[in-house]
Amino acid sequence: MKPLDETHGSGEIEPVLSTARLMFTGITHKQLPGIALIGLAYLAGAWLGVTQTITPEGIAILWPPNAILLSAFLLLPRRQWPLVAVVALIAECIADIPAFPLWAAVAFGLINLLETALAATLIRRTVGERFDFDSLRRGGYFLLYAPLLGSALAGVLGATVYTVLGRADTGFLTLWRLWWFGDALGLMLLTPLIVVLWRQFPRALPRVHWPRLIELLVLWGLVLGLGFQIYTSTGQDAFGFHLTPITLLPFGAWAAARFGVRGAAMTVILIAVMVIGFMVRGHHPYTDLAPEHAVWLMQEYLAVVAVLSIGLAILLHEIRKQRDELELRVAERTAELETANRRLQEMATTDHLTGIANRRHFHDQATRTLRRRAGGNKPASLAMLDLDHFKRINDTHGHEAGDRVINQVVRIVRDTIRPSDLLGRFGGEEFLLLLPDTDPDSALEIAERIRRKVRNASYDNRGSPIDMTVSIGVAAWDGEQSLETLIRAADSAMYQAKEAGRDQVRSAPASLDAAAAARPCPTTPG
Ligand code: GH3
Ligand code: MG
Ligand code: MG
Repeated sequence: MKPLDETHGSGEIEPVLSTARLMFTGITHKQLPGIALIGLAYLAGAWLGVTQTITPEGIAILWPPNAILLSAFLLLPRRQWPLVAVVALIAECIADIPAFPLWAAVAFGLINLLETALAATLIRRTVGERFDFDSLRRGGYFLLYAPLLGSALAGVLGATVYTVLGRADTGFLTLWRLWWFGDALGLMLLTPLIVVLWRQFPRALPRVHWPRLIELLVLWGLVLGLGFQIYTSTGQDAFGFHLTPITLLPFGAWAAARFGVRGAAMTVILIAVMVIGFMVRGHHPYTDLAPEHAVWLMQEYLAVVAVLSIGLAILLHEIRKQRDELELRVAERTAELETANRRLQEMATTDHLTGIANRRHFHDQATRTLRRRAGGNKPASLAMLDLDHFKRINDTHGHEAGDRVINQVVRIVRDTIRPSDLLGRFGGEEFLLLLPDTDPDSALEIAERIRRKVRNASYDNRGSPIDMTVSIGVAAWDGEQSLETLIRAADSAMYQAKEAGRDQVRSAPASLDAAAAARPCPTTPG
């Protein structure tokens, strides 16, 4: 025999170790308590399965632990799967050893692992890696791949092991069906609740909302009361009612409508616990039937209640989600439209260069202001301003410098007037100023102040100073004149100021006919 050479020996072990290392990489000690919890839950589920869900005839109604495995495979990253599998296998052996040989326990564990890992792989591959019971599509694929396909396949393997064990006292097909339905029911009843609680954690931590809690307790109280009546009485009750298990279905719908997938799943589990509890004690409405037939009807009943209640909850969740998304989109579009409207409104009313009212907007506002005052005896005045020799500024310093001067003059005017006065750009370098509650003398004073400030301001064009002056015509409103008439009067006065040598303020005579007699403004220096 060839002596064992050390390097060769470690070389044989090395691939196994590195594979194991590869399998468990990424698992930190923080995840170990969670994985141990999965093992304990599996063990508890198996104990429930073999001790609490067996009819007096020895038929298992439900196999709960696979729901723990399937949930783990649906929720955890794949790199944690191997450790989950090892823990589940150990738990399965612990649960089975008293009744089965080790090889059969291992085989059962492997079958359960295959069933749930296959279902989880197919589900995650089809509907996305982040599984939740939040859409009919996901719920539908869960149903297809887990209870229908996975459990049916596991049933074939499980029935084979039973047959090999020589424990089968029924036919292969009956064994297969019992295994399939027990597994399927376990998956359908428990997986939704585990997944939903996990996904909502810690959001799902109870914040006690008393009216809802009371409603839920009433709902469950009715389920238990009615269930007690259905499963303990045979035939009609004292009032002549003949209650059947289907009477409990509306309570699943109630839970779905009011308490979502979580509430529906909990209610379905409550119904299942109660119904199975009664059945294993021999209380059920199918006592006339053969035991397997009664179990089959019971499983069928629970499957229908689970699918309809949880399915309805998922459907309602999906509808609500779509409605919320739609509302959000509508709100976003409305906000966009409002912004666009505001922008359009701004563009339609303001002058692009100076930011003050454009000609149309000034006209609208001023007309409204005058109309409000018509017939009253409150005064108002209008001033027209035109920058002097502005063409020269453009010609000498350029258009941009001209723009800057226009802006600066507008700032000066704005700083001089009150917020209630209306300033608008009438044309190129011509502005209109409506002064409500201002008599002619005050208007002349304001115009004069503006004229002086414009003249005294320094307009710096990057080092080369600019001289700027303004000519202003002022007209007093007679309480009835239209805005157009008033503008003509102010315009005429402004031309008088130009003719008189510019850098002047002139007021229009009380009547346009007397425009020619426009008097010089007493406050205007020569
Ligand atoms: P006057 O003293 O008689 O008013 O002489 P003026 O040169 O100012 O003559 P007028 O008022 O007829 O000419 C206005 C000039 O203002 C003509 C135009 O080139 C210029 N202008 C009009 N709008 C703008 C503008 O937005 N920016 C610039 N830079 N110039 C403008
Ligand atoms: Mg001008
Ligand atoms: Mg002009």
